[in-house]
Amino acid sequence: MGTYKIVTYGCQMNVHESEKLAAILKGQGYSPVDRAEEADVVVFNTCCVRENAERRAEGNIGALKNLKAERPDLILAVCGCMTQQKGRAEALLKKFPFVDIVFGTYNIDEFGLYLQRRRGGEKKVLQLWEKEGPIDESVGYDRSGGVHAYVNIMYGCNNFCSYCIVPYVRGRERSRKSVDILREVKALLDGGIREITLLGQNVNSYGQDLTGEPEFPELLEQVGDLPGKFRVRFMTSHPKDLNERVVRVLAKSPNLCNSIHLPVQSGSSEILRRMNRRYTAEDYLAKVDMIRSALPECALTTDIMVGFPGEREEDFADTLKLVERVRFDSAFTFVYSPRKGTPAAGMPDQIPPAVKKRRITELVALQNRISEQKAAALIGQTVEVLADGEDLKKKGFLCGRTEGGRLVSFRGDPALLGQFVSVRIQAAGLSALRGEVV
Ligand code: SF4
Repeated sequence: MGTYKIVTYGCQMNVHESEKLAAILKGQGYSPVDRAEEADVVVFNTCCVRENAERRAEGNIGALKNLKAERPDLILAVCGCMTQQKGRAEALLKKFPFVDIVFGTYNIDEFGLYLQRRRGGEKKVLQLWEKEGPIDESVGYDRSGGVHAYVNIMYGCNNFCSYCIVPYVRGRERSRKSVDILREVKALLDGGIREITLLGQNVNSYGQDLTGEPEFPELLEQVGDLPGKFRVRFMTSHPKDLNERVVRVLAKSPNLCNSIHLPVQSGSSEILRRMNRRYTAEDYLAKVDMIRSALPECALTTDIMVGFPGEREEDFADTLKLVERVRFDSAFTFVYSPRKGTPAAGMPDQIPPAVKKRRITELVALQNRISEQKAAALIGQTVEVLADGEDLKKKGFLCGRTEGGRLVSFRGDPALLGQFVSVRIQAAGLSALRGEVV
């Protein structure tokens, strides 16, 4: 039929949904290519969590204007969180009239239909649903992660953090049935996948919208108890909802990674209140203590935002203090970016860009120092690595991740790919460790 290129922005959820788009395209006979210039269909799966992601997507869509003029048969589609914002799809089509298909997050399963309509002669397909529909289990995924696979356990979010656009573009929480999740995970493991990441905006509220379904700790246990040796991770956890039951299950099941991503966002209880996070800095620290007393080796990673409206110097100092106290293994650090339609965008006391820049620089420097120290502490230790690819920067070397998620490069035969390998760590840097197979 032809070729396709999918350009993905944003989080793991989008990466995983692009795997669904790929399955739909392949189902219609298209095959993937590396460059948009070689493709017959180009899909932009967009993100609107930060302004920067929107700007990049717009820049890249605009860059295809001439290509589309040269090849009118080229089909350009735009979907994802950006298009689901109120009025955004229409504005996009006005700005980029050469785009053929626009659809939102709720109707991604119908992309195949829109493609057929466009090919059938319909000039423009603009299809957005106002509301989330039922979960469709019939559309599969064309996974691209080697021995690693994402598995969605739920969609949407009920939390309405005051800075976040996600509940407006992804709808309320909807959990998949556990029988469907377990069937999918089992099939992946049978097919050679060795690491599963269970995905949801707030995995800890899994099952609460369904009756007769397990809650998250039970689901996690059932996944971990499937036969064989493999790894299970999950993200994202909300600090107000992560509980001792989850931690107890992690401690019990060898297949569940001792690794938790627990976004703190700020170390100031006042800023957390304004963010509508519904926990205080003290609550967060109590959760960290609970995790570490049950699982002393558990890797902890986080998300931290600086420059939220009203963040005073003392609030930022509280964030630095919390980072020093917790000593995260790593952190995704962000500068607050106002999102139209969210309560925080209209709050007074927006922080000037220069102040945001200074704070993020200071925060990154602190976290890098901690991450380096924690990496250096692994030198001389033997860790288990799931070998998942060749190290493209070093001939003869493979790479993979530890249970805690650290990247390790080591000399090894490609026959080791897909296997768990014991590696003694010899050197440590901020982004990767180096070691030898023992
Ligand atoms: S928990 Fe908060 S930050 Fe996370 S997706 Fe929901 S609203 Fe956004």
